[in-house]
Amino acid sequence: MPPLKLDGKLLAQTIRTEIAAKVKEQTDSGLPAPGLAVILVGDEPASRVYVRNKIKACDDVGIRHTLVELPATVSQRELLDKIGELNCDPLVHGLLVQLPLPKQIDNKEIIDAIDPEIDVDCFHPENVGLLVAGNPRFYPCTPHGCMQILERNRIETAGKEVVIVGRSNIVGKPLALMLAQKKTIWNPAGGDATVTIAHTGTKNLAEVCRRADILIAAVGKARLILPEMVKPGAVILDVGINSEGGKIVGDVHEEAMQLASAYAPVPGGIGPMTIAMLLENTLKAAVALDG
Ligand code: NAD
Repeated sequence: MPPLKLDGKLLAQTIRTEIAAKVKEQTDSGLPAPGLAVILVGDEPASRVYVRNKIKACDDVGIRHTLVELPATVSQRELLDKIGELNCDPLVHGLLVQLPLPKQIDNKEIIDAIDPEIDVDCFHPENVGLLVAGNPRFYPCTPHGCMQILERNRIETAGKEVVIVGRSNIVGKPLALMLAQKKTIWNPAGGDATVTIAHTGTKNLAEVCRRADILIAAVGKARLILPEMVKPGAVILDVGINSEGGKIVGDVHEEAMQLASAYAPVPGGIGPMTIAMLLENTLKAAVALDG
């Protein structure tokens, strides 16, 4: 049987429709529409595309947006001042600084400066701590997109062997945590799975990956995951985004995908889900702050 394609684009559209209805409830009850502020530093083409997609998604669901564009030469002080200003704006319920930032900027200090209550990327140490403790304020967007694509396609994670290739703070590490955590009313995205994180220090990557009932690639290397690394019938989520001659490809070789029972492709898998989760966090922040 050919593998089932987990269509993140379609699912994200469904989630956006649900969010739009909730946003309307907010505004119908006299509350301001949720507002997302995005700070974009410099002229990196990929960052511009990501930011454009986020803003378009806000428009689709009725979330207001503010785009602050700063030159690549911006100083740490100027960026901190802008964050301080947006932190105090009652119409800003979500604030994110698009990464990567130029070399002269200290990323950690920037992330630490965002008010945790509006840190809709869930990068602030307070929000990371809450996530680790199993009592999250927000879920980070890409890991949550992965969890939602599994859950809404009724792919069970409890008791499954999951291998995540990649241990970044943005994807691999928080996703591993979410998958391993117990599902509770405070932590509904807990996956109850048995999780292995593979990375650059992993020996016998193929052997480790072949153990996976659910294999998740979040590396950023085109076709790293080859057919011999996949247990036939596994579920594969490809998170990688690699540009190859103007085409976007994931981390998983096409032939490896064919061995899966279900797979989230690139493009059209986790990318659109990530943006849907950002909208969800912005709505959540607005509800928490405004009622
Ligand atoms: P990163 O560069 O911070 O981390 C990559 C990870 O891969 C590292 O932990 C490293 O140990 C591991 N790695 C690198 N080479 C490896 C190898 N040969 N074998 C095993 N592990 C290896 O990247 P990131 O921010 O986590 O992003 C990963 C990929 O996911 C990128 O392609 C990125 O563009 C993409 N991404 C997609 C979305 C989305 O919305 N779909 C969101 C975030 C990131």
